[in-house]
Amino acid sequence: MSEPPTSKRRLLVVEDEEHLAAGLKLNLELEGYDVTLAITAKEARQALVESEAFDALVLDVMLPDMDGFELCARLREAGNFVPVVMLTARSAAEDRVRGLEAGADDYMVKPFALDELLARVRSVLRRRAWDNRTTPEPEPKAAALEFGRAIVDFSTHEVNVHGERIKLTQLELDLLRYFSENPRRVISRQELLENVWKVRSAGSARTVDNFISRLRRHFELRPTQPKHFLSVRGAGYRFVPNGE
Ligand code: CA
Repeated sequence: MSEPPTSKRRLLVVEDEEHLAAGLKLNLELEGYDVTLAITAKEARQALVESEAFDALVLDVMLPDMDGFELCARLREAGNFVPVVMLTARSAAEDRVRGLEAGADDYMVKPFALDELLARVRSVLRRRAWDNRTTPEPEPKAAALEFGRAIVDFSTHEVNVHGERIKLTQLELDLLRYFSENPRRVISRQELLENVWKVRSAGSARTVDNFISRLRRHFELRPTQPKHFLSVRGAGYRFVPNGE
């Protein structure tokens, strides 16, 4: 299904393999995108500093000066939440997990079908458009969450625990939001992977566990005796805003 962008969306493609980079640029331009190429992480960061107006990044993992995971993680740390589709050379689950933990929104394993990449780019842009649309007039229920000692503002990404400002990655926020929209319900790892990570992979259940540990470290008074992010043996997890 062809879905031409209404106004020209700006993409930054970070890829050091010349032929692939040129091919991506050409094809993305044919789809109606405005494409900037960077062949190193340094160039990419420069482009991002000079223009904050990119709608999405296509980011290769293997770059000559810095790997894509690190570049992505640094962007997120700096508060830049531009959608990122990572290009990984290996299909190792570990790479996918690393990419998602670094704050990437999606990933493609090389070699990939161009159609699939275009679909993923469209998909992250749609999610972005959705986020932007909900930002100016946020649903009060979805925009803020208070539980335990925490206050979370999903529209500004501001998180306070016991009066102290903490930083969450985009995925940690997305996971928390999903829990907040489904309080007290037992949610399977598979459901979380599909709705938060947007992947279908039984092998990445441990990723979910790692992220739950991170949420517990952030929010639980005693992470080993959680009151809000509860394990349900053999079933998944349950979020209890008022504490158990
Ligand atoms: Ca490369």
